[in-house]
Amino acid sequence: MKAVVWHDVGKIALEQVPDPAVRGPQDAVVRITTSAICGTDLHFARGTVPGMRPGTVLGHEAVGVVEELGTQVRNFNPGDRVVVCSTIACGHCVYCRAGYFAQCDVANPNGPNAGTAYFGGPAATGPFDGLQAEFARIPYAHTGMVAIPPGVTDEQAILISDIFPTGWFGARLAQVRSGDVVVVLGAGPVGQLAALSARMQGAGRVLIVDGNADRLETARLQNAETIDFNAEDPVEVVRELTGGVGADRVIEAVGVDAESPKAGPAARDGDQAAFERERRQVAPRTGVEDGHWVPGDAPSQALRWAVEMAAKAGTIGIIGVYPSNFDSFPLGMAMNRNLTIQAGNCHHRHYVPGLLSKVATGAADPTTILTQHEELPTAIAAYEAFDRREPGWTKVSLELM
Ligand SMILES: [Zn+2]
Repeated sequence: MKAVVWHDVGKIALEQVPDPAVRGPQDAVVRITTSAICGTDLHFARGTVPGMRPGTVLGHEAVGVVEELGTQVRNFNPGDRVVVCSTIACGHCVYCRAGYFAQCDVANPNGPNAGTAYFGGPAATGPFDGLQAEFARIPYAHTGMVAIPPGVTDEQAILISDIFPTGWFGARLAQVRSGDVVVVLGAGPVGQLAALSARMQGAGRVLIVDGNADRLETARLQNAETIDFNAEDPVEVVRELTGGVGADRVIEAVGVDAESPKAGPAARDGDQAAFERERRQVAPRTGVEDGHWVPGDAPSQALRWAVEMAAKAGTIGIIGVYPSNFDSFPLGMAMNRNLTIQAGNCHHRHYVPGLLSKVATGAADPTTILTQHEELPTAIAAYEAFDRREPGWTKVSLELM
């Protein structure tokens, strides 16, 4: 079969690899009909997240049709359409039974404390061959596959493999309640769906911060109030728009590879106050060097903004991706303002069935954020365009039908 394979930093290829097979009784093989490219995949291609094993198939989002089932996968028939959950969970350990599927004790072959297991990731996450391929082996398929209700398209379902549940989870972590003013940091695909999720969970107002005009335009299509960090100080604007109080809930959907605000005109024409404001925005670019986080380096701008713009006693939900050795967080300010902070990898299996139902009934449609429909044969060119952050490239699907 054809698959997108990681060979080295900056070196990925679409090539012929052996077909996957059922290896154990809890496995299934799925013929993939739609996959997608995620920002996380770009980290692996660029090397900003290290540790990939050469030969690993990339991709952690898929919709497909069941081809073959192990003897202990009793909830599907060949021919069923399914969403594959990005993270892999056994379905029987104490963590899975409590709904903490991303902290499964069993799925990661490196041990119970090795971290979240998922498709197409670094060696420490399994590794498991990913889903940008014609076929995939799905371990613990009874738990990791979810049947697609009639009427839900591939285009809708592919967004429920990873990013819609992650956005929903971000709003849950931030404890969004009825009437809340919610700020989402980052208007990438996950941030957009976190904004949609916050509204569905009862938010009174949803504000979204980004530096990219296309993404802010997309956010306005779903009636989020947009803030351009290249044009204004997002902390000041949030305070101004909320009567000085700040946001009840902040969802941080940026992570470690934040784009820095561009130095504005004030830096050039000598307006000292504006220059200070810009300096404060621009300075803390992340400490990623040669693909490794440098501990003790400048803290993430997005985390600092989150703490600064939250109301006293507010809540921050962090779904942006940080490496495990990242240890820079403005804790003093958070502590002194009684903030609640929750963070983590999405427990996909916990949210996927409910989101499929919401999409099936028409209560939600995540497809406004799907900007690019590509096909597997052009996957490498799609990676390159996505990596250049070409205007309008928010989310890329890879169709195989
Ligand atoms: Zn488990």
